[in-house]
Parts: sequence; structure tokens; C-alpha cells
Amino acid sequence: MAKVPSDTRPQTKLVTAGRRPEWTGPVVNPPVWRASTHLYPDMAAKEDGGKHNEDGRFFYGRRGAPTQWALAEALTELEPDAAGTVLYPSGVAAIAGALLAVLQPGDVLLVTDNAYEPSRTMATGLLARMGIETRFFDPLDPDAFPSKFCDRTRAVLLESPGSLTMEVCDVPALAAMAREKGAVSLLDNTWASALGFAALSHGCDIAIMSLTKHVGGHSDLMMGSASAGKRWYARLRQTAQALGHVVSPDDAALAARGLRTMGVRLERSTASAVEIARWLSGRPEVAQVLCPMLPGAPGHDLWLRDFTGGCGLFSFVFGGSDEAGRARFIDALELFGIGYSWGGFESLVVPFDPAPIRSETPWPPAHWSGQDRLGVRLSIGLEDPADLIADLDRAFAAMEQG
Ligand SMILES: *Cc1c(COP(=O)(O)O)cnc(C)c1O
Repeated sequence: MAKVPSDTRPQTKLVTAGRRPEWTGPVVNPPVWRASTHLYPDMAAKEDGGKHNEDGRFFYGRRGAPTQWALAEALTELEPDAAGTVLYPSGVAAIAGALLAVLQPGDVLLVTDNAYEPSRTMATGLLARMGIETRFFDPLDPDAFPSKFCDRTRAVLLESPGSLTMEVCDVPALAAMAREKGAVSLLDNTWASALGFAALSHGCDIAIMSLTKHVGGHSDLMMGSASAGKRWYARLRQTAQALGHVVSPDDAALAARGLRTMGVRLERSTASAVEIARWLSGRPEVAQVLCPMLPGAPGHDLWLRDFTGGCGLFSFVFGGSDEAGRARFIDALELFGIGYSWGGFESLVVPFDPAPIRSETPWPPAHWSGQDRLGVRLSIGLEDPADLIADLDRAFAAMEQG
């Protein structure tokens, strides 16, 4: 496409980003370049090809081709202050790739206590085996945060809102503190994406996303990304290449397709989620709605201060701790599929009980009103919210009938 102005707004960038004419040719989207071998016209070109390691340079399939480069460039354009983006075969691979890029044996890693469970497991398993020590911290206690550092603390892994319980933390303050202490801050920004929270502009060094969620958006691919400024982008890239990380061109094309509509999908699912969360907070069966977009949720004021958008993912907790009742509720839902992942066009539900996962924050936490702790997480899709509310209403009736 013709030259694109660089000062456009995010919704416009979603449409234009990554569509370089030399990658798209005469069509709208970069074609799917399925390639392991890249052929050189002659020896001189082969010698030259080996000298440059950057997206946009043909070399070998493991360094990608225009389909992957276009997606990575689009994500970089969408992340303010990013110099580049590395793609990974899953969100977990992105977290592992980014942590391995910044850590070495003997280092200490700080991890938020409400981190995605596989991130915790990676830290206490794989990283521990490599001689990296992990300490968890309470994301809602920024005053206690500085005392968690020691002179070996090298990195901080943040997630906001946190998984399952959805607390929003003061990312700018925590990232600034990490920088002051000489540690790298990494943010798992899957919930908000760059559209909802500009991670690097708010002081983080590395912004990680599971593209499986909002970017893919159709529950048919797995991928992850990490974006960073110049210094850390170079390390991310080196590490990903050392680990042999590459994504398939077919998946990259699907992810790029998803990206084009991500803005309108997020707007719609956010509006529906707010409507449904409000409705749930008026239900007698519900003890607590954990939705950052709703007043009263932990960190809601920070969400208002720092975020430019939301998404359809939130949780709620039932009054009482009746596992059988919760199972009846979930089984009675007709429009919500029971399953992991989220951010697709279709609504999903999963049960959760964070008590066994937490180590630093007692469960239920002090800011909760009662002792209830059995909950479900909802991913609100693109259905009519009135139908979703009717479905939830039916499920509450089934739960009460026991
Ligand atoms: C799903 C998820 C991931 C992992 O992504 P995959 O693509 O499933 O590997 C990481 N972080 C968060 C917050 C997630 O919800």
C-alpha cells in the first residue's frame, strides 16, 4: 500500500500496520510464504545475507519471511516506544523466551503473586533448576515492594490485571522501582494488549502478550510476542534464535487477520463485559465481582488512571463455597463453552479457586468482604449480551434447584 502517515491513532494502525508494499505485493495482505530454504541468486548475495540479522532480510526459514515479519512489525507499530517484536509459538514460550533473555544463574526474579499459573510453575521449576531464585510479591502492596529486592534481583515479572482474580496493580510505580534497583521489568500484558495499556510508555522494559487471546481472536491459533526498546529487543531476538523459536507462516497470517479486527472486537466485548459484570453484582448468589472496569474492584482507580481500554475477561465469586452448586451452574450454561483460553469471538467459562496457587497473599485477601472463594472466570465474546445474561440467569436458577 502507498506510504502511510506515521502519526495515526491505534485503531487506524490496526488497519495499516505491517502492510509494506514489498511484503504485500499488489494484494491487501502479505501472502503466506511457506519456506525453509531461502535461495540466493549468487555467492555474493549469500555472503551478504549472512551479515545482516534483521527482519526483512531473507536468510533461512527460522528467521521468518514476509508473513512473520509483517505481523511482528505491525505489533511493534502498535506498541508505543517499541523498537521491535519477537514472535513465539505460544504465550508461554514468549514468557520463557523473555525471562531467559534477561536472567542468568544466581539471579533473583520477583514474580507477582497473581501471575498466570504456568508463569509461576516456570519460575519455580525450570528457572529454579537453572539456579535462578524466585520470590513472590503482593501486587497490591507497593509499599512492601522495595523490601523484596536484594543485590541479586535482576528482573520483575508483572501482570495487570492478574490472572483469575484480576487485581490491577500500580505498574508505573513498580516498574520505576525496578529500574531504580537495576532490575528489568517484564509485563504480561495479554489482558489489555497495547490498545488498553501502553506498557513500555508506562516504564516497563518488555511487553509480553499471548497472541492466542485477543490478537488471534478466533480460538484457532497459538502464538506469543515480546516487544521492547532497542536494547532488550536485541537480547530477545538473540535468545529466541538460540532457542530456535519460529512461528508458522500460516499461523502468522491468521494472527495478522485477527489483528485487523481486534479493536472493534475489544470494544464490543468490553461493553458487554461491563454490562454483564454490573448485572452480576446485583445478584444475590454473587459475593464479589472481580472486573477491573467496575467500581469497587481491586485496582479500579489505577485502571481508570492508566488504561485506555479493557476486554471481555473477568471473574466472579459465589457466596458460600458449594462446589456442587458451582458445577450445576456451569453445566447449565448453554452459550458459554467450558474451556481454557479466552479472547475468542465466543464466550467461555472456567471454574477457579486461587487459594492453592497463592503464596504471598493469604486467600481470601483482606480487601474481600467475606470468606467465599469459589469462583468462575468468564470470557465474554461477541454474542448479544442480553442472551448471555439470560443464559447466566438460567444457570443461577439451576444452581439454586440443587
Ligand atoms: C493464556 C495466557 C498466557 C499463555 O498463553 P498461551 O498462548 O496459551 O501459551 C500467558 N499469560 C496470560 C495472562 C494468559 O492468560
